[in-house]
Amino acid sequence: MENKLPLQGQVAVVTGASRGIGRAIALKLASLGARVGVNYRANSAAAEEVAKAITAAGSEAFLLPGDVSDPQAAAAVIASAIERGGRLDILVNNAGIIRDTLLMRMSDEDWDAVLTTNLKGAFLCTRAALRPMMRQRSGRIVNISSVAGVMGNPGQANYSAAKAGLIGFTKSVAREVASRGIAVNAVAPGFIVTDITQGLTDKVKEGILGQVPMGRFGQPEEVAEVVAFLAVPTTTYITGQVIHVDGGLVT
Ligand code: NAP
Repeated sequence: MENKLPLQGQVAVVTGASRGIGRAIALKLASLGARVGVNYRANSAAAEEVAKAITAAGSEAFLLPGDVSDPQAAAAVIASAIERGGRLDILVNNAGIIRDTLLMRMSDEDWDAVLTTNLKGAFLCTRAALRPMMRQRSGRIVNISSVAGVMGNPGQANYSAAKAGLIGFTKSVAREVASRGIAVNAVAPGFIVTDITQGLTDKVKEGILGQVPMGRFGQPEEVAEVVAFLAVPTTTYITGQVIHVDGGLVT
């Protein structure tokens, strides 16, 4: 008899799955048998490549374009996932941007763009996803926060506020829906090699590495591994938690 994959028959949506950490999460969940909705905002070529990689590996993917910070678009992303997949079991709120600058120079736009994408986007997608999950009496939501939301980071007051907000959001929603069989957790990555960290100067990178006990940046796949752990049916008694994937940066 063929061995059943842990997420066989399940449908997952990963926001911001065209690149970086979201891409790795989408590939990982698909490798465990989930049909995966690949959300992205603008980079359709990259998103198509992710969907192709999933299909080539023998799983199923569908594209879900849409800006998660826009209420109508976020609702449409989730509605389209349910229409395409027939159900929704896993939502990973991963889409995120940075607009780094010192607070004295931070514009209203810098603040709003980061808060609406990183925090409001998660709220909009989660609200839409909870309805089918409540009906099913099962579901997993994983929010991608950041060490910046726990320890702060100069030049990232907007980003740190959004990521800290995501932790409070995670804990509150976890309490609201635990009795319905839905688990809500957060993962807080440290410095992971993606387009976001690519832009850092060598001096800044060196400074960061000096603070990371493991002495290296993380890989997107190392974050995806923990998201998968929180998503599989065998993880049954964890909700409202923040799991750090940061090489020991925050202890
Ligand atoms: P990335 O490589 O820059 O990728 C960002 C992804 O988010 C892309 O797929 C992008 O889509 C999508 N996106 C951005 N705004 C969106 C919107 N409004 N609606 C839908 N999709 C949107 O970023 P990353 O480094 O992988 O980061 C992923 C998540 O991990 C973010 O929440 C980030 O804050 C968090 N994180 C990252 C690190 C790190 O060191 N890299 C550390 C801690 C936390 P397009 O391709 O279409 O632009």
